[in-house]
Amino acid sequence: MHPHLIFWISATVRILVVLGLSAAAGFVWGPVPGLVLAVIGVIVLIVIQLFFLLRLSDWLDKPNISRLPDGWGAWTEVFSRLYRLRRGDEKNQTELAEWLARFRQAMTLLPDGVVIMDDVLFLEWCNPAAESHLGLSLKQDKGMRITNLVRSPEFMDYIILGRYDVPLTLSFRERKLIVHIIPFENRRQILVTHDVTESERIDMMRRDFIANASHELRTPLTVINGFLEIASLQPDLDASTRMSHLKLMAEQGERMQRLVEDMLTLTRLESMDYPMRPDRINMRAMLEQILEEAHALSAGRHIITLEFDGPNIFGSTDEIRSALTNLVTNAIRYTPENGEIKLIWKNLSQGPKFIVQDNGIGISAEHISRLTERFYRVDKSRSRETQGTGLGLAIVKHVLLRHKANLMIESTPEVGSKFCAQFPTSAVVQDEMD
Ligand code: ADP
Repeated sequence: MHPHLIFWISATVRILVVLGLSAAAGFVWGPVPGLVLAVIGVIVLIVIQLFFLLRLSDWLDKPNISRLPDGWGAWTEVFSRLYRLRRGDEKNQTELAEWLARFRQAMTLLPDGVVIMDDVLFLEWCNPAAESHLGLSLKQDKGMRITNLVRSPEFMDYIILGRYDVPLTLSFRERKLIVHIIPFENRRQILVTHDVTESERIDMMRRDFIANASHELRTPLTVINGFLEIASLQPDLDASTRMSHLKLMAEQGERMQRLVEDMLTLTRLESMDYPMRPDRINMRAMLEQILEEAHALSAGRHIITLEFDGPNIFGSTDEIRSALTNLVTNAIRYTPENGEIKLIWKNLSQGPKFIVQDNGIGISAEHISRLTERFYRVDKSRSRETQGTGLGLAIVKHVLLRHKANLMIESTPEVGSKFCAQFPTSAVVQDEMD
């Protein structure tokens, strides 16, 4: 049955009962007592209604579900409906609170910055990524105008122009950000920041690498092409000139080959999918072989010694050999005749360390941090003269990185250089120690 119908039936029955009883009293005791009884009955009914109305008004002041009063008559239905409504409300509120918590957490984890502003760009809310991208602090800056917080002429122009369909690329606080502004809900705007500093850096490195590599390959190619042209224009060149041209062409060919090999090695080392197969490296055997090769390369022009007092390590034999050989070869190439080169392998509390110390030309401080960049050379012509590709230290750095080792460089111009490869203690082959 419809609740309204029940309400009306029960209210009518109650009034009819009072009136019926009053009529019966009037019939038995006369009209006056009957009327008095009817008036008392109606007053009682009104008082009961007022009493429940008061309880309802009390409850509405503090609508706590456990304090909901029991009803009487039609009030039973009213209170039970209120109970259901309130329970539904509480459930909705809990769900909303859960959603809000989840939304906040998602916003906190989001790598992109999100700022919510009103229609006149006053900050209402922002997530931690936006705080770090734009140097904001939600606590302090809430209610401030975003243009007073993000002080950048590019950003100002973007806001003034208001062409939000095109994103803004903003250089701000040593970051590169892509900024979008999206109007929503009529009177609000969302500002989204996406940090592209790292991908820009990688892109620039890639562009530089391609430009440098092309340049490096073009030089020997130009030389080879030049000699080929001479050979075709002057077929009757004498044998000794022809031989010297062929020798120079072969040198340039070898240079190109070294370059391509080093480039391939670097690419392979950098590729995540190129797995490292760790061997137990016999360090004494490896360093003695490197010493022998160093003597051969120096051809008696330097005094080269090896001090061996360290353990065997786990690592890729080929990669470690190539890295250490690179350091030793550099010491020979950048140390004038009669110079001294010391190779040291020792064990320290922080792990085994390989040191190559020379008293060669040295490097001034401003270059040191850039030496491991690809194609970075202090003196281009000297590097070429000594058959350098400019990739040696970049390869060393990557090999060491793959072995959780660090490259440290100390150098003083005209005094000499010290290149150290510090391996972690975890690299030591333990059962062979003592
Ligand atoms: P390159 O093939 O030019 O030697 P590397 O990457 O091996 O390239 O080295 C980068 C630069 O670091 C070299 O061009 C040189 O200027 C400098 N360098 C490396 N080792 C030494 C050293 N032992 N003494 C002085 N300069 C060095």
